[in-house]
Amino acid sequence: MELSARQEEIVSIVKENGPITGEHIADRLKLTRATLRPDLAILTMAGFLDARPRVGYFYTGKTSNELLTHNIKKMKVSEHFSVPVVVNEHVNVYDAITTMFLEDVGTLFVVDEHSHLQGVLSRKDLLRASLGQQSLQEVPVHIIMTRMPMIKVCKKEDLLIDTANKLIENQIDALPVVQEKDEGLEVIGRVTKTNITRAFVELVKED
Ligand code: ADP
Repeated sequence: MELSARQEEIVSIVKENGPITGEHIADRLKLTRATLRPDLAILTMAGFLDARPRVGYFYTGKTSNELLTHNIKKMKVSEHFSVPVVVNEHVNVYDAITTMFLEDVGTLFVVDEHSHLQGVLSRKDLLRASLGQQSLQEVPVHIIMTRMPMIKVCKKEDLLIDTANKLIENQIDALPVVQEKDEGLEVIGRVTKTNITRAFVELVKED
């Protein structure tokens, strides 16, 4: 990330004098504390500086690679997931294909009557089923879906980078975001390769 001239100056003051309070940095720059606040917030958020209450700001000494990692590791599933598209386990394959087109998604999550996760249907699962001889209206999706306990899931509080790793390691396109309930997993969202790509683009835009 490119720093403004003032931000560069703040970093060098903190590098030489840290830990130093916001007030003292402001004095040195002959500015008010309020004027400096946005710059200090940016420098702290980006990981150049760290702030300790009653101590002040100090320089973290992170390289640009470490700063990039720092920013990636701040990304949580909670800020990047999409609404899930679910179908009941008794729905037939024909209707699941229709839902996939209407909702414009690549993965459907299959739930029981209590909205608990039972399975996953990918595009190729449905294509494979379509190659068979049977009428698609007669095949319920629970016959062809990938089922629990094989489903890879994530939670809202997980790091986005960990979900990206799960997608790669398991060679899949999407993970359901779940909440643990007494009797099963409730599906509250989805993280797909598109969410990860969007987050990657946002990271550069924010910079
Ligand atoms: P496609 O099959 O269209 O290439 P995926 O790569 O997402 O799409 O799916 C590959 C296989 O993995 C499919 O059989 C699918 O049911 C299964 N699958 C998809 N998502 C998950 C998941 N989160 N957990 C476990 N299996 C999954």
